[in-house]
Amino acid sequence: MANVSGQHWNRSDECWSSLLSCRYFAELTRLATTQLAGENALGYLEIETDSDLKGVGWSFSNGLGNDVLCTAIRSLAPRLVGRKLSDFTSDMASTQRKFQSGQIRFMSPERGVVQLATCAVLNSIWDLWAKAEGKPLWRLVCDFTPEQIAACIDFRYITDALTREAALEMLKKQAKTKGERIRLAEQSKAVPAYNTSVGWLGHSDDEVRTKLNAAAKQGFRHFKLKAGQGVENDRKRLGMVREVVGEEAILMVDVNQLWDVDEAIEYMPKLADLKLWFIEEPTSPDDVLGHAKIRKALKPHGIGVATGEHVNNRVMFKQLLQAEALDAVQLDACRLASVNEILAVLLLSAKFGVPVVPHSGGAGMVELCSHISTIDFVVVSGKQSILEFTDHGHDAFEAPATITSDAFHATPTVPGYSCDVKTVEFDKFECPNGSFWQSAQGRKMLEDPWRGVLGEQTS
Ligand SMILES: [Mg+2]
Repeated sequence: MANVSGQHWNRSDECWSSLLSCRYFAELTRLATTQLAGENALGYLEIETDSDLKGVGWSFSNGLGNDVLCTAIRSLAPRLVGRKLSDFTSDMASTQRKFQSGQIRFMSPERGVVQLATCAVLNSIWDLWAKAEGKPLWRLVCDFTPEQIAACIDFRYITDALTREAALEMLKKQAKTKGERIRLAEQSKAVPAYNTSVGWLGHSDDEVRTKLNAAAKQGFRHFKLKAGQGVENDRKRLGMVREVVGEEAILMVDVNQLWDVDEAIEYMPKLADLKLWFIEEPTSPDDVLGHAKIRKALKPHGIGVATGEHVNNRVMFKQLLQAEALDAVQLDACRLASVNEILAVLLLSAKFGVPVVPHSGGAGMVELCSHISTIDFVVVSGKQSILEFTDHGHDAFEAPATITSDAFHATPTVPGYSCDVKTVEFDKFECPNGSFWQSAQGRKMLEDPWRGVLGEQTS
């Protein structure tokens, strides 16, 4: 395996990572994003070093169960202790594999909560690496040579679709022109934003109309709405969007795994005249062939299929792409094994010619994904794609994601992976000792085993 240290390694060589703590906080969501009561929670890891740098990594959860995520992080994070940062970064592909190896693999290899925990731990390494180099993460990666990027990827299980040699060839081709795209990124012209804040089911029609007008004025041209609430209901909402933003706007809908395969095939053509780019998560995220069947059936109606926010690893994305099941790859920066595996999925998507439209619907996800989409544009696909901008939770972060006046994501400038959460958030939301969780409402929620289950929740 090639060594990626060399020129990308300087002042942090003397620092080594010693585990400080593994702590987490849960933050109440500020929006009812679906009919269920969702929360925004992070399994949060800080690694302290013998320099003044801290590496921060986290993975996202929806509230209840975040303690399970944190337990999984506590199982893996001690592997960092007593090592130099360069022990990990000198061969990132092996680092990923090491964190996914051993007895922990029995817990379900490269899937589920252990995969989320692996992501948090690897994110802390990437964050520390970028901070040590004094660069935002996207720039760290975009300054790599094609060989150095390829050396971060574990190609095991995907070589039947993408070999290291083929990936290198793709990366070398894009490297020739990456300078112009870096300039665009520096001007925050790399990643157009799409808007989902208009479309949550918790909003009234008036609220949707007001938000739409504001978003259209801000320059948004892509909108995604929750759907699956009955054809008439969906037609009314989507028609409202068409009326406010016009025929040129790109519309997408999301039903969060609502249907059986054949239900999706029956329902969606009834919305075809509204000209939808894609239906997101029409069915179980595990159903590769089901997605392929839906895509084939909806193609004559001009509706595409997208999924990815619950796709656990590069192998499933490989299969979805091989089965021609997708029109957009919606990878989630916390569902995959950090930047390592994200690079593999970006390359697979580019190989199959499918755009990457990352999922970033939870607090902190836009912060991470603005790095990822920039990397895709500059060094992998070379093409602009859109990235979700959800307008909540950003004030919890030290380097919050923002959008420009013409609806592009502002390219991150602060060194690191934009993971750092403000200290004041821990005072309030660290579970169970933060002031919120010690309040009457917080204690009631902690005692409620049915949080988020419609009709059963008591808090
Ligand atoms: Mg979704």
